[in-house]
Order: sequence, then structure tokens, then C-alpha cells
Amino acid sequence: MRSTILLATLVFVFSSCNLGGGDADLVLTNANVYSLSWGDPDPEGVPATDSPYADGAWSADAGAIAIRDGLIVAVGAADDVESFVGPNTQVIDLNGATVVPGLVESHGHLHELGEKHEQIDLIGVKTEGDIAARLVGASSGRGAGEWIVASGWDEGEWADHLPTKDFLNRLFPDNPVVLKGLRGFGTLGNDLALRAAEVTNDFENPVGGELVRDETGDITGVFLNNATDVLNDAIPEGTLEQKQRVLQYGFGQLMPQGFVTTHHAGVRTDYLPAYQALAESGELPMRVEAMLSVGVIGAPSVEKWTAIGPTEDPTAMLQIRSVKAYYDASLGSRGARMIDDYSDMPGHRGVSGSDYGFDVERVRAFMAAGFQAGIHAIGDAGNREVLDFYEAVYGEYPNARGLRNRIEHAQVIHPDDIARFSELNVVASMEPGHAVEDSPWAEARIGPDRIKGAYAWRTLRRNGAKLIFNSDFTGTDWSFFYGMYAAVTRKMKDGTPEGGWYPAEAVTPEEALRAYTVWPAWASSREDLTGTIEVGKWADLAVMDIDPLNVGLTAPDGLLDGLIEMTIVGGKIVYERTPNQ
Ligand SMILES: [Zn+2]
Repeated sequence: MRSTILLATLVFVFSSCNLGGGDADLVLTNANVYSLSWGDPDPEGVPATDSPYADGAWSADAGAIAIRDGLIVAVGAADDVESFVGPNTQVIDLNGATVVPGLVESHGHLHELGEKHEQIDLIGVKTEGDIAARLVGASSGRGAGEWIVASGWDEGEWADHLPTKDFLNRLFPDNPVVLKGLRGFGTLGNDLALRAAEVTNDFENPVGGELVRDETGDITGVFLNNATDVLNDAIPEGTLEQKQRVLQYGFGQLMPQGFVTTHHAGVRTDYLPAYQALAESGELPMRVEAMLSVGVIGAPSVEKWTAIGPTEDPTAMLQIRSVKAYYDASLGSRGARMIDDYSDMPGHRGVSGSDYGFDVERVRAFMAAGFQAGIHAIGDAGNREVLDFYEAVYGEYPNARGLRNRIEHAQVIHPDDIARFSELNVVASMEPGHAVEDSPWAEARIGPDRIKGAYAWRTLRRNGAKLIFNSDFTGTDWSFFYGMYAAVTRKMKDGTPEGGWYPAEAVTPEEALRAYTVWPAWASSREDLTGTIEVGKWADLAVMDIDPLNVGLTAPDGLLDGLIEMTIVGGKIVYERTPNQ
């Protein structure tokens, strides 16, 4: 490992010395470049005094970029890059398209994209009849014993009238069937799938999970929260090659959206070898931060990984330097841990911590070994307890404060805890899409007071918190333009609710763009290497056909029409839109 770092350092020094001369590999001209190299906006979103913002409009701060050996060697006007053009330089005229730093999808589940591609899609089903129609149509021709796996029924919407296995048993008496929920907090299996998972009526609920039962005490086939893995793990595993293909399919979905980096929020042991094989063979087309899963099932070994330690070479395409753990469940399934009762279920406050399978010792051991933690917390009690946990770990291991630890989702926060994000150097990793998609029912769950601390981006910013945005795909559309639209308008794609849902918590277009670029670079301790378009930084860029800063200000609905023209990772064009795409 040490020799790799030394080599990386030498390469960096060598190219730094040569930034002024030699031919570029690639030069982009006639561009509308937002380098984001100016200062952060203030806590209310007012652009910094050194920003290219004046009289209510943004203007580009550069028009051309030169790239060599994967790094940016010049940014400026056309004249500034001219001397870098040689006989072997590829010069691309961008015709006025906008260039921003490469986008970061900082919380997603990459393998699910490929797996769902190979599964039957249940998104939007409202009744068991809907499910039956999709399954029967898509599974025709499968032989007896072949597994039928589908996904996408919305656990939040179905929470009050969960499906049961009876109709699946009638439809598919000869095939094991597993129907995964949209957000991973519910899954339904038929009798053959339950048999494969060795689940019978006397099966005990795992920690933090529940097997739903009917009034006679029989299991209905629905597994909730931590119990979902009991069923999902019974599905036969794919080969290493299949898993690499599944991951490549995922990259193929992200790169057309301008993403240059994805943070896989919880990689289990089943997919780690596939990532490592792709990294070793040089086949990773984009950067990956594989956050090791510290869950109940399938978690990589603490002993092994704390001995290996976090990836030290920052230029490696595959980074394994953080862990992901769950502290509570979701608001939709009422599993998120609340300080007081759910407004629509008196006496119920959700589950958290060790009751939800959170392993204090394991997460602390990873943090002590220098791994950054990203802990899922949704309810106000969940968030408070995770902040308490971080505070306690810092007391024991002061260096852990510098890891820029994260809370994933940070959905409902008690007013007393908002300022603690900044005090404890904790990043709020949040999903603009979740805020607007949950808006129809979130207030029923927690009532009119607590909702004010929900998806509270402006309040967090005002209190000094670092914010990063992502989609938590596949449950939500991972388009950057949709995320930015939701962040700026607090509206769903159909424009509702009018005026936005608690619009005072919206962010500005600049803040939204930063939450997909500069701020995740900081959250990964990579701000010296990436996140802005500056000489010496990685040539990771996203080229788009709209100017998101000005469209976001003047006609934010137009963000939804934005298209990525080109995605560049380390100077390589990994995606280019063809005219009819
Ligand atoms: Zn997630």
C-alpha cells in the first residue's frame, strides 16, 4: 500500500510541475463552465461575494478546460487553453453547453439497479390483482422450481393493508416467489420461498425485524425491516461474473446522469469480490466508495477489515474507507424511532439501536480503525441517539471526529439536536426526492409540530450543518435534475403541492449543485482532489444542456427537462449523448 501512495504522490508532483506545458489529451471549448471554485453561499443561501452572481443571475466563470493524464491542467478563456492544443489533442466544441464538476451520487445501492433489471417490476401496484397481472405476464414460460423475483411494491403505501402469500400460493404452486418492497423494508414470499428460507410458523422474529402474522398467529409471508434478509438471502446467489455484470449495468444507469462517483451505502460480503475484481481488471468506469455493511446478516468481518484498514491511496477507483449501519427503520413502515408516539399509532414509537440490530461494538471498532461511519437514522429519537453515539465514540477516540461521519437520511430531527450536526462534525446525507415523495403521508405519521424538523435543509444549513444530497436509489429516481428540482421547489414531478411542501426549507440552486459536488467531496475528505473545476484536480466533469443555476432560479420546472450531454471521469469520456437520446 505504501509504495502505491508514494507513486501516486510522485505522479501528482510530476504533473503539477508540467501544468504549464505539453499537449493536453482533451480540450473542451465554447463551454459555460461553473467551476464552483468560489466560496460557499452563506447559511441563508446568499452567494459568496467572489461568486459569478450579480443582479439576480449567474454567469459562467470559464469557457474552456484542458485535461491531461486525467487531471485538469487549465481552466479559463479560450486563449488560456490554446497553448495546450497539440497534434494529438482531442478538441470538443461544446456549443455553449454547461460544464459543472462531476456529480456524486452519495447514497445508493448500485447492485439493486442490475438486480431489478433482471427482476419483474412492481412499481405502482395498488392491489394484489395488480401484482398478479404483472407476475403472470412476466413469468410465463418459467419451469417448475424456477425462482420468480419481483420488486417495487411500496411498503409505505401498503403499510395499512399488507399483501399476504395466499394469492401467490394459488398462482404459483410450483415456483418460489419473492416480492421485494420498493425501499427494502418489506418483502413477501410464498410457501415455497418460505420453505427454502426454512421459515415455519414458529420462526422467531430476528432482532429489529418482524414476520407479520394473522389473527390466528400464522405468518402471512410478509417480512418487515431487519427480517427482510431472512427471505432475500434464500434466493440463490449469482456467480462472480453475473455480479460484475449486475454492477456494470448499474454504472450504465448512473453515467448518463452525469455521475462520476457513487457511494454504495452498505456493500455486503456478497458483492465485495465483484467490486474488487472490476477494480483489479481496470474495468470500473466510475469511482466507487464501497461503504461496508455493518448489518445483521452478510456483514464483512470486523477483524479482517480493521486489520486491512481503510483504502489509503485516494486515487484508487475503488475506495473502501467507510461503513454503513442501520440505527432505525423507515417512517413509512413506522419503524423509525420517535421520541414520542406516532401521531397515527398511539403507543408506538418504532425501534432503534440494539433492538434494530445496531451493533455498537462493531461500528465503534471500525471507527477506531479509521473508517468513516454513515449511520441510517430517520426518526427524531434515532437521530438523537446516533448523535449521542458519535459523541461517545469521540470521547474515547478523539481522531474519529475528523472522519466526517454521516447520518444517512437525517429525516426527522428534534429542534434541540439540529445544532449538534455541526458541533459533532456530522454530515447530513439527505434525499430531496424522499422529501417530496413522502409529503402526502409524512405529516399524518408525526403531526404538525414534529414535521417542522423533517427534511429541514434550510434549518440545518442555518445551524452550520454540512449537507449532501443523493437519491438512495433504486427506491427513488436517481436523476440529478429531479433531485435538484425537488431540492429547490419541494414539489413532486407533477408540480404538487402548489407552492411546495414546507418551502421555507428549500435550498437554492447553487446549494443543491454543491450538495452533489463540492460538499460530498468534503464529506469524503477529497476536497483537495475533486469537487470543483480547478487546475490539478481530477478531470471529473458533467456536461449538460441546461444552465441549472439560472434555470433553477427563474424557471425551476425546466430542471426536469435537463439532459446530460457528456460525463467525464479522470479525463475519459464515459458517456456521450447521441442526438436522439
Ligand atoms: Zn439506502
